[in-house]
Amino acid sequence: MSASATLHRIPRRPGAWWAWLLLSQLAVALLWWRLGWAWGLPALALSHLAFLLPVFLPRSALYLPVLSRLPAAERLVWLTIDDGPSDDTAAILDALDRHAARATFFLVGERARARPALVAEILRRGHAIGNHTHTHPSARFWALGPRAMAAEVGQAQRALAELAGVAPRWFRSVAGHSNPFLAAPLREHGLARLAWTARGYDAVDGDPVRVLQRIGRDLRPGAIVLLHEGAAHGRSVEIVEGALCLLAERGYATVEPPQ
Ligand SMILES: [Zn+2]
Repeated sequence: MSASATLHRIPRRPGAWWAWLLLSQLAVALLWWRLGWAWGLPALALSHLAFLLPVFLPRSALYLPVLSRLPAAERLVWLTIDDGPSDDTAAILDALDRHAARATFFLVGERARARPALVAEILRRGHAIGNHTHTHPSARFWALGPRAMAAEVGQAQRALAELAGVAPRWFRSVAGHSNPFLAAPLREHGLARLAWTARGYDAVDGDPVRVLQRIGRDLRPGAIVLLHEGAAHGRSVEIVEGALCLLAERGYATVEPPQ
């Protein structure tokens, strides 16, 4: 892919948000001073919301760059599978083989350390791996401070680089969240953040029909498709298999990560 240089965007200025915060608060102060609290107070609340909301918006680039779609005109998708390795990994690899599909597995560092053979098998079958934090702190990832965030990214990166022999280049946030402290460790490890175009909420919803309906709605050329393995509902393999059939029905092929 010729545009790949611009697709893999390592954060360059992890502190840029400070300038925006400072400017916004100066503007609020000015507004308050000139027009009174009736303008100043709502402006203050709105300005804080503008910095809080992007934390929970997977495609927001306020705190760091993010890729959520490939610039493809043909029927190609980038298939990504999060949360492994798991009990489902082997069956998912077989399903991918049957469909001659390629995927990128966003692995959790400590899960990878516990199952090194599965990491090796993913790579042996020609798939790629990415960094999906070391412990997958679902409820508190968005609120991690600078040290905890650096540890989540760095420990996973070290684990995966040791197991795979080559360091991952892509990072997937837990639940797609981000905050002001994610950019610095991504820059340190040469990682670019990846979101998605289509997802079916299959980490929590185990109904393949509903999941595939949601994915199908957002399927388009260049889509980044998000799937999960090892979900508590126990139907991840079935859902991945269903997604592969859906792609085939609609004439989509999978691509490898942009180099
Ligand atoms: Zn996850």
